[in-house]
Amino acid sequence: MLDQLYREIILDHYAHPRNRGRVDGAEIAVEGANPSCGDEISLYARVRDGRLEEVRFEGHGCSISQASASMMTEAVRGKTLAEARQLAEEFKAMMHGKPPDEDRLGDLVALQGVRRFPVRIKCATLAWVALQQGLREYEAGRPARVVASSEDEL
Ligand code: ZN
Repeated sequence: MLDQLYREIILDHYAHPRNRGRVDGAEIAVEGANPSCGDEISLYARVRDGRLEEVRFEGHGCSISQASASMMTEAVRGKTLAEARQLAEEFKAMMHGKPPDEDRLGDLVALQGVRRFPVRIKCATLAWVALQQGLREYEAGRPARVVASSEDEL
C-alpha cells in the first residue's frame, strides 16, 4: 500500500539520515525549533555560483522532523536559491492541503500523510521553515550566524 511505502521512506531517512553534520565555512547557518514537539535542527549550507552546493543538518526530535530534514537536504542540494525557495513553497503548500506535483516533489510526497495529524505538520515543515529563514538572511546580506556549541566551551 502507498501508506506503507511512505512510512518506509520516512523511517529510512530517520534511521539513516542523509547529509548529517556541519558545513565548514557555511554561508547559511540557521537554527530552527518546534517547541510544541521538542524538535530542533541546525541547518548549514554552502552557496556557490547561486546554488546550494552543500546542505547539511544536525538536530534531534521526532522521526517526522528529522526525516523531513534529511529529505529536504537531498531535495535542495545543487538547486539554485530560487529553485530551493520555490520547492519550500510547494512543500509547505502540500502540507497545508494542496495536491502535490509528484514529479517535482519526488520522495517528499511521502510526508503528505502527516496532514492527517495536524499537530505534526510543524514537525514536517520545520526544516523547510529554517531553510527559508536561512535564504532570507543570506539574500539580505547578513552573515551566517555563528552557531554556539558546547564543544567550543573551554
Ligand atoms: Zn516533531
